[in-house]
Parts: sequence; C-alpha cells; structure tokens
Amino acid sequence: TSTTTPMNIVVVGHVDHGKSTLVGRLLHETGALPDGKVETLREVCERRGMPFEWAFVMDALQAERDQGITIDTARIRFRTQARPYVIIDAPGHKEFLKNMITGAASAEAALLVIDAAEGVREQSRRHGYLLHLLGLRQVAVAVNKMDLVNFDQARFEEVKAEIVDYLGSIGLSPTHVIPVAARSGANISTRAAETPWYTGPTVLAALDGFAPALPDTDLPLRFPIQDVYKFDHRRLIAGKIESGRLTVGDTLVFAPSGKSARVASLEHWGAGDVSDRADAGRSVAITLDEQIFVERGQIATHADTPPILSHTIAARLFWLGRNPLTVGARYRLKLATAEHTVEVAAIRRVIDVVDLGHHDGIEVGRNAVAEIELRTRAPVAHDSFVDNPRLGRFVLVEGHDIVGGGVIARAEGEQTGAT
Ligand code: GDP
Repeated sequence: TSTTTPMNIVVVGHVDHGKSTLVGRLLHETGALPDGKVETLREVCERRGMPFEWAFVMDALQAERDQGITIDTARIRFRTQARPYVIIDAPGHKEFLKNMITGAASAEAALLVIDAAEGVREQSRRHGYLLHLLGLRQVAVAVNKMDLVNFDQARFEEVKAEIVDYLGSIGLSPTHVIPVAARSGANISTRAAETPWYTGPTVLAALDGFAPALPDTDLPLRFPIQDVYKFDHRRLIAGKIESGRLTVGDTLVFAPSGKSARVASLEHWGAGDVSDRADAGRSVAITLDEQIFVERGQIATHADTPPILSHTIAARLFWLGRNPLTVGARYRLKLATAEHTVEVAAIRRVIDVVDLGHHDGIEVGRNAVAEIELRTRAPVAHDSFVDNPRLGRFVLVEGHDIVGGGVIARAEGEQTGAT
C-alpha cells in the first residue's frame, strides 16, 4: 500500500560511522538527487585528486540551500514506492540534540548507524538512550562498513548482540538490525551478494515497514491557548489542538484557572474548512458563550479528563547547558504555550547514559540525564509523558538558550488525567 503522508525520520549514530554516507546513498538510490549532481561531484573530486564521498552530496545540498537556490529547504526529502520521507535532522547537524529535545524534530522513526569495525560507541548509546527517552519506539539499526570486516557474519552478530543488549536494557527493541555498506550501496535498497547469510530487509524495506504515527485524536483534549484576539466585538481564542477533538457546544475547562464556558463557534485557522469539529493537529480559533478570563499559556480540556495540576514536577531531564544544573538553580520552564519560573528542588539521581550506571548527584553535567524534581510558585497544568507526550514534555531556558529538555514522570499511583 502507498500513501502520500510523509514519515519523519532521524538518522543517528556516532561520528564517522557513516550517517551522511548512508543518507547520500538513500537519496541517490531513490532518485531524490538532481540529475547530474553525483557525476558533477565525482568529476570535481577527480580533478582535485581526492576520493569521492557520499557525504559531499549532503554538503552540496546544504550549500545550495544556504544560497537560497533550493526553495524547499531545511529538511531532506526522498520517496519510495510506499511513501515520502522527510529526514528531519541532517547528520552532523550541530543543533541535533537540541532539536530532538525540543520536539522541533518530532520523528516517528529512527535509523541508528553503527560502524561494523568500531562497534557500539559512546554516541551510539547516547543517541539510543535519547530516542528511548523521547518515546521513539521504531528504530532500525544499520551495521555499516561491512566491507571493512569482509562481510563477516560472526562480526555482524557480535555488533548486533552488543546494540540489541544495550537497547534492550533501556526497553527498546530494534525492528531490524541490517548489515550494510553505505559507500558501495550494499543492502541499502538492493540485497547485497556479499551477505547471502542475511535474510532480513534492506534499509529501505525496513523504513517502509515502519508504522505511521497515529494522530493523537484518541487522547483527551489538550488545547493550549496561543493567543486571544479581539475582533469585531468577538474574542477569538486561538491555538493548536495538541490532542483529542473539540466540537462546538463542548464545555471547556481552562487550566489552571478552573473556569469553564461552552464553545460557541469554531474556525479552522487559515483553511476554508467550516466543520464544527476539529481534531488533534489542527490550528483553530474558537469563541465562548461567556466572557471568562482566558490568556496565553492556559490549557483547555474537557471536565472529565483534566490534566494534572501541581507545584512540583518529577522529570527525566537531558541537560545541554554549558554550566551544570544544580539544586536551587532557577530556570524558565516552557510547556506547550505556558511559561513558568521553576526551581530545581532535588536531583534524585544522575544516570550514566553510556554504561547505564547511576549515582546520587548534586549536579548534572552537559549531555547527562538525571531524575530531578522541579518546583513552581503557581501550579502547572501537565500530563505525564506516558499518558500524553504532547503535554508531558518541556524545555528549560536560561537567558535565551535552551539548556535542557525533559519528560514528565508519572507520579506513584497516579491515574490517567485525574488529580
Ligand atoms: P558521519 O559522521 O556518521 O556522517 O560519517 P560519514 O558519512 O561522513 O562517513 C565517515 C567516513 O566513513 C567517510 O570517510 C566515509 O567514506 C566512510 N564510510 C561510510 N560508509 C562506509 C562504508 O560502507 N564502507 C567504508 N569502508 N567506509 C565508509
């Protein structure tokens, strides 16, 4: 079956393990590169007496983008017979971790690249952990540079066992582990003669096997308010429906104020859609039947499925700050459209992402993960990440910098949506 809905994927892995090469190859083999691009680059390399690298294809695309030649930009696209893909983060991108954490890059699936000769390295583990932390469950592993180990099955099995073991210990089970040689194109889109012992799918077939993300329509309504406009005596309350569905006539409760009113009208932002119902993913503007106080940052929900309201948040945090996070420090917390000042109340434990050991900590260093507790003055409306990822994640900001991202833990004995 084929669809026109693109799937967002990320390509992760240790530096130099071949992410760019694999992406260059994927683009080439799916016909996504402009005609003559590869030939031109090969000629340039030959003239300069340097070996051709598939990674140059990515660099060339980036350069065109910087010059504004390619209009459809920041993301890399290709398509298979099954569906279009968007690689939402280019390998080697400096902002990669930040994009992953802020959800700017909300990927549905990931490809983890590991060098067959080097095996699992620090960033292989760190990225694997981050995928898991952010709730990504569809991960395929490409054991790359199989040519360097003579396409040896025993070596492949060794690397496979190592990564399956690590991912397994954080609760992630890869859909496939594929022996590939990105540079020559082995098992990328066509089966390689060098790996007769391998019976699984190629990289492309593995991607095509991923299930598309389900829209969050079946979760309780979460409608964070972005803006309130006055317009022809009407007050338009605008935002994006993060989960659930909203219908004219619904009684909405606004958190944290607890005030409620009924939806009098609903407009689909921009679109010429006049339906009186809207689902997760849509940006809408509504009016209410009563003049209650509503402002940016509040979250509209249905009365029977409220979010959690509390002054404390227990979270698993990925720290990116240059300076370590310490108990007592204050940051701005951004959750959906809300912003709060928070204080770090406790650091429960610091997790070593590489060996999965953990210890009590008084500070959290850059690129570390920790279980922490945050405290706010006013109650914060939120969900736990497992109940509703849309309202269960946040970022911490210091000055103008995003210094960390976290997912909210479920409190002991807590029920879905109830307080
Ligand atoms: P990245 O940092 O993960 O994006 O890695 P690159 O794609 O830049 O590749 C790093 C180096 O590994 C480059 O010199 C590539 O040519 C080389 N490389 C990538 N794939 C293969 C492969 O399948 N076989 C071999 N022998 N080298 C490869």
